[in-house]
Amino acid sequence: MRTTCPYCGVGCGISAEAEGRALSVAGDPAHPANLGRLCSKGSALGATVGLEGRLLHPTIGDRPATWAEATGLVARRLREAIARHGPDSVAFYVSGQLLTEDYYAANKLMKGFIGSANIDTNSRLCMASAVVAHKLAFGADLVPGCYEDLDLADLVVLSGHNAAWTHPVLFRRLEAARARGQRHVVIDPRRTDTAEAADLHLPIAPQTDVRLWNGLLADLIRRGAIDLAFLSAHVGGFAETEAELARADQSPAAVAADCGVPLADLERFFRWFAATPRTVSLFSMGANQSAQGVAKGLAILNVHLATGRIGKPGACPFSITGQPNAMGGRETGGMATTLAAHMDFEEAARARVRRFWGAPTIAERPGLRAVEMFEAVREGRIKALWIMATNPAVSLPDAGRVREALAACPFVVVSDVMAATDTSAFAHVRLPALAWGEKDGTVTNSERRISRQRPLLPPPGEARADWRIVADVATAMGFGEAFGWRTPAQVFREWARLTAYDNPDRVLNLGPLAALTPEAYDALEPVQWPVTAAGGAPRLFTDGRFQTPDGRGRMHPVAAEGPAEPVDPGYPLALNTGRVRDHWHTLTRTGLAPELCRHAPEPYVEIHPADAAPLGIAEGALTRIVTRQGEAVATARLSDRQRPGSVFLPMHWTQAFAPAGRANPLVAARTDPRSGQPEFKHTPARVRPY
Ligand code: SF4
Repeated sequence: MRTTCPYCGVGCGISAEAEGRALSVAGDPAHPANLGRLCSKGSALGATVGLEGRLLHPTIGDRPATWAEATGLVARRLREAIARHGPDSVAFYVSGQLLTEDYYAANKLMKGFIGSANIDTNSRLCMASAVVAHKLAFGADLVPGCYEDLDLADLVVLSGHNAAWTHPVLFRRLEAARARGQRHVVIDPRRTDTAEAADLHLPIAPQTDVRLWNGLLADLIRRGAIDLAFLSAHVGGFAETEAELARADQSPAAVAADCGVPLADLERFFRWFAATPRTVSLFSMGANQSAQGVAKGLAILNVHLATGRIGKPGACPFSITGQPNAMGGRETGGMATTLAAHMDFEEAARARVRRFWGAPTIAERPGLRAVEMFEAVREGRIKALWIMATNPAVSLPDAGRVREALAACPFVVVSDVMAATDTSAFAHVRLPALAWGEKDGTVTNSERRISRQRPLLPPPGEARADWRIVADVATAMGFGEAFGWRTPAQVFREWARLTAYDNPDRVLNLGPLAALTPEAYDALEPVQWPVTAAGGAPRLFTDGRFQTPDGRGRMHPVAAEGPAEPVDPGYPLALNTGRVRDHWHTLTRTGLAPELCRHAPEPYVEIHPADAAPLGIAEGALTRIVTRQGEAVATARLSDRQRPGSVFLPMHWTQAFAPAGRANPLVAARTDPRSGQPEFKHTPARVRPY
């Protein structure tokens, strides 16, 4: 059976065989995303599908409950909160682990039937800044390129993207292209495995990305390497952007000094970029997870718009998503800032979606974004919170404060695969969900490619699909007519119809898929939207038309601002958090596979030897990391891969695995004001021997 990997945004196809609950997996050679390759996480999926620790029956408090009791209680508490405090007193916090059908159902219930937009996703932590940058520059959240562009490019720039660890199969693809002569430049404060393998590594000072990309644009203007014909025909905002550049010294020497990189290396990067029309700029969490995440994205998009390196084979800016279905959430409206199908909250779109759903109401304005949502919970403004397929008590910044919020919330529902997570410890009701290998639906990867996740294993216990759990609660709330789906194919067809409904020119259009028979849905081959009768579209903007009202792309002036909270004598180090190669999120799945735990068996903190020596911290020593938000203990790994003045702490460990080694209680909950994405990559910290 062919299915799709549940981990990262590469979206690799998998060929799997099941016998009972034993599962063997291999890469699907026919899937365009991976062409048969799998990384360590995908290869170990068979070790993660056992039933140990699974939530198999609904519970109310500590006691088992029937589905009717549990969904009845959830429906009653949601209705009561809405009646007493209004629709904005309830909130859903969902996940890039959900399938598109799940996302669609949850969004429909919240925005069309409850009447609030308080549904946000953990994808807010991953790529919300890129979403805002896309909307500003292109008129909608559109990813212009495709993985084939990585094969066709002559230069690939990776900005804040350790692809070797986070998107390993894409990295293998890049390595193959490099063997054919492609050049790689990595912009990253850390000398990651990706940087180590590159032709050029620019180890910039934390949060100086905008300065560097602005410097590149200024250099391209000086060289006359701007595509004036493309600008004149297809792009606005150049004059304003150029004026902003003039407000700072953009000489390579000044830019190199501010970014903390050797002048000769910076100049080499500028020369390579100017001389290479086929350039792809990948950007990921290192760019997005910043209080300046939108500005970083815009600075990258500005360079590509100004040079016409977009909409052409081997030339595009390319935001790579973290999760398997972050893109599906962006499409269906799983974010508080989008209504559905890339429509915002303007009157005409609200009327259109309400009409399509036959909904009694429709959300009037954007809802609370992830960090704001949990702050509202903490302040008592949210009376009922439903968390689906995610573990915010571990994964949100300032996670200690999130725990306080959950403890104070009058009613918390958690639907999850696992029985005991850091978050479910706060649940009043737990609802058992199907896991990967049992679920049936679709996901969209980083290149807009929709692929099927197919059920390989029998549903265990009383676990149900997430879309069905939402539909059951909606039905118990009195909305059964609009949530009467019996199969995921029915949900998908409705979703596809919505994308095409009253849609003369939105790029996100799955129209032909709205007529899929159940058999055709089962057999659906990976396809990139927009989907027409002729099939999918690998590349957007090939005709130079964008989705802005005037059809022109838009450059936006951005100023380099640095970190939201600079380091200071009390907290002199920049704490950077992120993932390790073989683990995924909060370990609920990869923590079950011994071979995946071997790569990083315990929490560690990476420190430059020059920072460790004066503090008396030796390799392997237990080390305390302290910020204004909290503290953690981890084993020191001394490494000159770490930039002096900064430390790196992986984010995976939980209360169950290593309570003292949890990273996110240390992270300040500062966010980009435009995207709401937290600055996971920079919190002032100090370290000392334990
Ligand atoms: Fe899964 Fe990502 Fe690895 Fe592919 S690269 S096998 S999608 S984790």
